[in-house]
Amino acid sequence: MELCSPTQIRALLDRYGFRFSKSMGQNFLIDPSVPARIAEASGADGTWGVLEIGPGIGALTACLCRRAGKVTAVELDRSLEPLLAETVGQYANLTLRFGDVMKTDLPALLEETMPGMPRMVCANLPYNITSPVLTKLIGSGLFDAVTVMIQREVARRICAGPGDGDYGAFSVFAAYHTEPKLLFDVPPSCFMPQPKVHSSVIRMEMRREKAVTVPDESLFFRVVRAAFAQRRKTLLNALSAGFSRELTKQQVEQAISACDLEPAVRGERLNLTEFAALSRQIGGLL
Ligand code: SAM
Repeated sequence: MELCSPTQIRALLDRYGFRFSKSMGQNFLIDPSVPARIAEASGADGTWGVLEIGPGIGALTACLCRRAGKVTAVELDRSLEPLLAETVGQYANLTLRFGDVMKTDLPALLEETMPGMPRMVCANLPYNITSPVLTKLIGSGLFDAVTVMIQREVARRICAGPGDGDYGAFSVFAAYHTEPKLLFDVPPSCFMPQPKVHSSVIRMEMRREKAVTVPDESLFFRVVRAAFAQRRKTLLNALSAGFSRELTKQQVEQAISACDLEPAVRGERLNLTEFAALSRQIGGLL
């Protein structure tokens, strides 16, 4: 069946009495060129195992099944089960699982469905859970690459660098683990129902080695979060607030100066190397 013809999709949804759920971020692709482009951008071929989150009615799933060695798709909405059986049931390399990806034991699932294969994620993510899902996927160390369609603003934030208006704690998290690339934008007209926001596809290739070496990862990210928590504040004031229980302002100033940084600089100017140096200095004072 032609999965990306709006008329046929409408007929399929009506046949099963399907109702879109806003809370599950259900906006299905209806432009056939988009899932094909996303699947191609992922770089998947027969050697790869691909995890898809939220197959919906299977537009992207079908493209992935035609390219990849194995595809495992996790869908929260059980009412999509009979629709998916009709649209992608013919693919022998596909495993469908119903459940919440946030509660799914991914190492066990991937070991079961694609043992020994290099793994990647390719998905049109539900917008309401983009950040927690990406945090889980990137932090898991299970994947070599993550290609996702997300809200355009979030994509810009992930791919931003020091000095960009969109640069923030999530940009640092992404750059620490991955090399993110903004690939292309997708307008609301490509979806049913149309979302209010524009979307972008990004590809994040995991780094074999982290971008910087830090003795204490959780302290590193605590420093990053504190630096961005109050964007209008200087680095000195932001860090002093973030570490007020453990450090005096003088100690924070000392840590900043030891990194050859100006206390009046703002966190949004710092690159990963500078954040790493700062977290080492602060760690030495705790
Ligand atoms: N892949 C389809 C497409 O491109 O047309 C649908 C994408 S739609 C933006 C997001 C999908 O994720 C929906 O099918 C929704 O039911 C599913 N979803 C939402 N929350 C989820 C969760 N926590 N775990 C797994 N799937 C989820």
